[in-house]
Amino acid sequence: MAWDFETDPEYQKKLDWVSEFIENEVEPLTHVGVGLGGVKSKTYQKAIRPLQKKVKDMGLWACHLTPDLGGQGYGQVKLALLNERLGRVGLAPVVFGCQAPDTGNAEIISHYGTQEQKDKYLWPLLNNEITSGYSMTEPQGGSDPLAFTTRAELHGNEWVINGEKWFTSGARNAEVFVVYAVTDPDHKDPYKRMSMFLVPRKSPGVEVIRYVGVGGGRGSEGYIRYNNVKVPFDALLGPRGSAFELGQVRLGGGRVHHAMRTVGQCQKALDLMCQRAVSRTTREGKLADFQMVQEQIADSYIQLQQFRLQVLHVAWLIDKHKDYKKVRKDIAAVKVAMPKVYHDIVSKAMHLHGALGVSNEMPFTGMLISSMVMGIADGPTEVHKVTVAKQILKDFRPDNDLFPSYHVPKVREAAREKHADLVEELKAEWAARAQSIDAL
Ligand SMILES: Cc1cc2nc3c(=O)[nH]c(=O)nc-3n(C[C@H](O)[C@H](O)[C@H](O)COP(=O)(O)OP(=O)(O)OC[C@H]3O[C@@H](n4cnc5c(N)ncnc54)[C@H](O)[C@@H]3O)c2cc1C
Repeated sequence: MAWDFETDPEYQKKLDWVSEFIENEVEPLTHVGVGLGGVKSKTYQKAIRPLQKKVKDMGLWACHLTPDLGGQGYGQVKLALLNERLGRVGLAPVVFGCQAPDTGNAEIISHYGTQEQKDKYLWPLLNNEITSGYSMTEPQGGSDPLAFTTRAELHGNEWVINGEKWFTSGARNAEVFVVYAVTDPDHKDPYKRMSMFLVPRKSPGVEVIRYVGVGGGRGSEGYIRYNNVKVPFDALLGPRGSAFELGQVRLGGGRVHHAMRTVGQCQKALDLMCQRAVSRTTREGKLADFQMVQEQIADSYIQLQQFRLQVLHVAWLIDKHKDYKKVRKDIAAVKVAMPKVYHDIVSKAMHLHGALGVSNEMPFTGMLISSMVMGIADGPTEVHKVTVAKQILKDFRPDNDLFPSYHVPKVREAAREKHADLVEELKAEWAARAQSIDAL
């Protein structure tokens, strides 16, 4: 019997330390805007580096990685428990060495990079000395990667990249971009037409058209044009034509990590909701005394628990199979569930705070936008629902013997035939019962 919901006591101690550390030392920095200037800024050096050192001393740095890459090799379940805490505060992943998009980019470089690429980018990324961007989506197509048109052509020993990319997160401070480009437009398998490249930001021809902001936030998503950008042949990341495959490795993990952090955001919204309910008084009593408010709290808790268990289960499946592809259906299911749970809980918390809830004094408007982002970034909900359904359906084979017409009458007929003796006995029993009722 291997199912177990206990956290090992040693690890629980670490988690308790994390909660306290985030609340007392990390969250206050978000209120003064530390971290926005990039890893090389003076304020970052002054405020973030000492916190990162404390995390390293606690053995909690880069927990998403294996020990050979400077991580702890805790696996996904432990990571989920940690990420729920980190998810409560936007700056926390940076302090713990597991911020997107660097985590995913480092992951693919570690799996597919050459020794030279690892030396140049992997270690600096893992040590948070530099940051990176992920340049996949294009203005004319995000959900459908087959619509991407950015081209990389081989001229001698150099690739020449041309095209536009949209919504490259972290572009403002990135030193290197992971860029998707079509290298083999005529390949018979459309999923083998694109490759990935590591493009240094300083390369001539990399032009940031503008930074786009999410909601009311400061723009940090890059709208980038690659104009005849020349990179050496070995800027290719992984085998030629393998961008889709590498992307699944990268995004599979990323989606689950988002979900883990979303659990933290939902828990934070629920905590604020409860705090408000017990603090705010009307003429007829506290908000917490009203049944309709209690219903909001109960529904939020139930929804959060269901989602949290779903996330932990996926984490457990990844630990078990050690292969994102084998857990594709459940990763997609978590991705679909995430924006709705997040949105539902945050909107209830926001509503219960009245005007304060929609003001910029509380975090709810940002959270609400984030919940919408979770339904778009890394692929929209609709696309992931299709993945879930297709993965479920693939276990079913057509059976035309069973379904010549309608399934249930056919099955019923077969059952009655098989148990003809019982049917006769039951008929006799019912007839006797009817007679005794008539006799009353
Ligand atoms: C905050 C944020 C950060 C991001 N970071 C990055 C990044 O770092 N790098 C990067 O490359 N990209 C990034 N993206 C872009 C993201 O990957 C795309 O937004 C996403 O893939 C959707 O593409 P799109 O925006 O072009 O929407 P579209 O493809 O235009 O889709 C719009 C809507 O159309 C509907 N739709 C689309 N396809 C289908 C379908 N098959 N079936 C049914 N309905 C469908 C859905 O309702 C969907 O929401 C980020 C996006 C956000 C919001």
